[in-house]
Amino acid sequence: MLNTASALIDLAALRHNLDIVRALCPHSRILAMIKADGYGHGALPVARALARADGFAVARLQEARELREAGISQRLLLLGTLLEPEELEQCSAHDIDVTAYDEASVEAIVGCAARHPLRVWVKLDCGMHRLGLEPVAWIRCARRLAAVRGVKELIHMTHFSTTRDMTGLVMRQQIERFTSCHEALRCEGAVEAAVSVANSAVLIARPELRAAWVRPGIMLFGDNPLAAAHPLPLRAVMTLRSRVIAVRSIGTGESVGYDGCWTSQRPSRIATVGIGYGDGYPRHAANGTPVRINGREAPLAGRVSMDSLTVDVTDLDHVATGDEVTLWGAELPAATIAEYARTASYELFTGLTARVAREYIGAA
Ligand SMILES: *Cc1c(COP(=O)(O)O)cnc(C)c1O
Repeated sequence: MLNTASALIDLAALRHNLDIVRALCPHSRILAMIKADGYGHGALPVARALARADGFAVARLQEARELREAGISQRLLLLGTLLEPEELEQCSAHDIDVTAYDEASVEAIVGCAARHPLRVWVKLDCGMHRLGLEPVAWIRCARRLAAVRGVKELIHMTHFSTTRDMTGLVMRQQIERFTSCHEALRCEGAVEAAVSVANSAVLIARPELRAAWVRPGIMLFGDNPLAAAHPLPLRAVMTLRSRVIAVRSIGTGESVGYDGCWTSQRPSRIATVGIGYGDGYPRHAANGTPVRINGREAPLAGRVSMDSLTVDVTDLDHVATGDEVTLWGAELPAATIAEYARTASYELFTGLTARVAREYIGAA
């Protein structure tokens, strides 16, 4: 199986990145975000490697159930999703925390909790307008949930829409909305709720917002969303690899790949690599996207196909069938590939398909 694409997952790098989060926020509990199958790295092996995290969060009940059934015993949060009453009961039975993110979910949780106790994260929409209660409703619902005996614990939660400008007006407005809502309840004195607002970018750039629970995702997998302004010694967890499956020479003016999107300007050597968009390598990767062959970079040439892609290796020596190729990893950040493909590392990681074998190294 030489030419099959595979993803090498370094669990030691994952633990290293958790240690970095811990060092940044020694007073916060860490809820590792491992939705979408652990950002494509495999939720269960990731959760096992992150045994020192205080909890995990996923976005589908099925994912939460699988983690519990596999013996993951830390706190487990189910992010906002539609739940039937019977599914909420399952959350209670399996000790899965739930998110109250609109009036209907609050109703359902209140209805369930009387007989089936729940831990509840009540989410404010502070400006993203995706999930969460608007401020007036949030205050009313948080107050109501706090008064329900079966609500074992209440966490005040929000999620900011900002991913880059962590100090600008939009960020300040969103912080202000959350703070005033949380303070309104705190001043009543009746509510004792932990706070959770920080994803990777927020916990990196805004130390004062780390609070009781931080919710890092992408940084655990080695991508620092604010690397330029806030460098951190994070390590890439995934290396996506394949092999050269063919090499050919072409003359000047020959085009490569579907619809001739790349044309040689000189006599060229073209290596065909056994990975394509059917594996999750982005079809929108532009000509010139770097690919590492035998430890050296060469540019993608022509449109990515379903099972293969083509690289201009004219400037590399001795490229041969069977040679090792790295599509992204420690030496070639997924964030770089994401830029060439006009997407984010999140989408690259979660877009890997089932036929890419995940291989694990560095288990403790
Ligand atoms: C995915 C997610 C996070 C983690 O975001 P990163 O940018 O990957 O750190 C945090 N909070 C919520 C609600 C999320 O959905």
